[in-house]
Amino acid sequence: MYNKAIKQYLEYLKLSGIQDIFVKPPLQINKTELLKELEEKYHTCTKCVLHVERNKFCYGNGNADARLLIIGEGPGAEEDRMGKVFVGRSGQLLTKMLSAINLSREEVYIANIVKCRPPDNRNPLPEEKSACLPYLEEQISIIQPEFILILGKVAAVTLLEIEQTLKAFRQQTYNFNGIKTFVSYHPSALLRNPNWKTFAWIDLQKLQKDYFGQ
Ligand code: SF4
Repeated sequence: MYNKAIKQYLEYLKLSGIQDIFVKPPLQINKTELLKELEEKYHTCTKCVLHVERNKFCYGNGNADARLLIIGEGPGAEEDRMGKVFVGRSGQLLTKMLSAINLSREEVYIANIVKCRPPDNRNPLPEEKSACLPYLEEQISIIQPEFILILGKVAAVTLLEIEQTLKAFRQQTYNFNGIKTFVSYHPSALLRNPNWKTFAWIDLQKLQKDYFGQ
């Protein structure tokens, strides 16, 4: 429809005697720069009570052009100290899990539902999640990944707005705003229950198959 209208408009310009037009190239967004600017803008956020005990705001880390976006629940103690996501023991396990499916941390982008650490690693409260979610939604719309991997039930319930068990979440993939979305265990749950690693491996293999088109 638009092509036809543009063609007609160009014909009209030609008939009016205009032979050349200058077309501006589409604006190229530097996603890395944009995310950096937004992190700078939001790092003093006080939209919810989690800012009170925060040491560092943990916006997200990784490749702004990533095909895979990984979403966890919230920063832990180590993350809160460093201002980076998934840098503690869970982060080390996540790095190993990615490497098992031939992905590196540098290839993916990782963020959480809430950007400040809930005290004693408690689950974020509904009002904290809804205050913080717009930041994640904005990150998703900038990065535009092909795949999302949600880690843990809390993040899955929040993002997919379905109340069910993690086992039920893992049975299928989801369409989150047009992005193929997988759900698996949070690495901290795997550290507490190493037996679940077998199931997490099954989830990762499903993701690997789609990611590499195998
Ligand atoms: S958790 Fe999110 S909404 Fe709450 S203070 Fe931190 S950045 Fe702001």
